[in-house]
Amino acid sequence: MPKTMAVTIDEEKCTACGACVEVCPVEALKIDSKCKVDADTCIDCGTCVDECPEGAISLE
Ligand code: SF4
Ligand code: SF4
Repeated sequence: MPKTMAVTIDEEKCTACGACVEVCPVEALKIDSKCKVDADTCIDCGTCVDECPEGAISLE
């Protein structure tokens, strides 16, 4: 079954600070000039959403 939730990163807001990368339990995030998420690895835990100081990450 396809995943219904997905992490979206607003690259306009992302400052590539790396805070989300540090907290992701499955290492689904990496910085590649801006933050990128590997949707296949992400378990939709929502930790990074709360951690981002710029409010650049959403989970919907
Ligand atoms: S929602 Fe959880 S698993 Fe997915 S990228 Fe954010 S911290 Fe990682
Ligand atoms: S915590 Fe937010 S601003 Fe920092 S790298 Fe992640 S998405 Fe970008």
